[in-house]
Amino acid sequence: MRILRKPEDLPRTGPRPRGLVPTMGYLHEGHLELIRRSAAENAETVVSIFVNPLQFGAGEDYESYPRDLERDARLAEAAGADWIFHPDPAAMYPPGFATTVHVGGPLTERWEGERRPGHFDGVATVVTKLFNLVRPDRAYFGEKDYQQLQVVRRFTADLNLGVEIVPVPIVREPDGLARSSRNVYLTAAERPKATVLYRALLAVREAAAAGASPREAERAGARVLAEVPEFVPDYLAVVHPETLEPLQEWVPGARAVVAGRFPTVRLIDNMEVWNP
Ligand code: AMP
Repeated sequence: MRILRKPEDLPRTGPRPRGLVPTMGYLHEGHLELIRRSAAENAETVVSIFVNPLQFGAGEDYESYPRDLERDARLAEAAGADWIFHPDPAAMYPPGFATTVHVGGPLTERWEGERRPGHFDGVATVVTKLFNLVRPDRAYFGEKDYQQLQVVRRFTADLNLGVEIVPVPIVREPDGLARSSRNVYLTAAERPKATVLYRALLAVREAAAAGASPREAERAGARVLAEVPEFVPDYLAVVHPETLEPLQEWVPGARAVVAGRFPTVRLIDNMEVWNP
């Protein structure tokens, strides 16, 4: 397993197609599923591990974000990665760095975009850099970060980056909690309660199946969230699967998105809730 740290070390030639799996490390089963998919579908798989300072806001967890490169390298290799790109922030953003990739419009104004100002600029800028450095044919993104996936699709198409974006379904714990590097922040007391996001999404989906309107289905989800007072919701909404605009009427693939905070950690989740 090669671990490359300098942008100039990245091989421009090599077996094709090349798949890229961008991550912030502290790999778990969700990341490994992306790596396995890429390894199955490409001649070469590159995993980037980079805790990107640009996508963290003031007061967020950039400094304390969990990191373990040795363990990540072992897991990535076992899942089929050929090399890891692990740059220093200073190599990605040298003095004088002054360019931002900004996706405008409603796609980034709501939900995570509203709660985390500048977050999607940071994501779009680093992913564009990773695409230009690694030159992948395909890149793998989890539906766990559903709005991020749509933002990546948008700028990849808008800027003709020529990378095929492959979405990968959410990998969950047996009790339904979506896998996340941040789950390690949950206390033992919070951990069982953290299934509340998943249970709220199921309630939205069940209400939809029973004939509820999107608004009524959101209320069914909100009632589940209210059962856990330690969890402070940021939003729970039924949205269009591509634009993420709130839906008044059901459309195939309608998605429910949810986010909120336990005292120790902010969690997000989503689910397809209507597909007749
Ligand atoms: P992160 O390291 O959290 O930035 O995530 C890197 C990639 O892994 C992103 O495309 C995420 O959407 C994806 N990912 C994270 N958690 C999961 C999960 N539970 N299931 C599927 N994909 C995931």
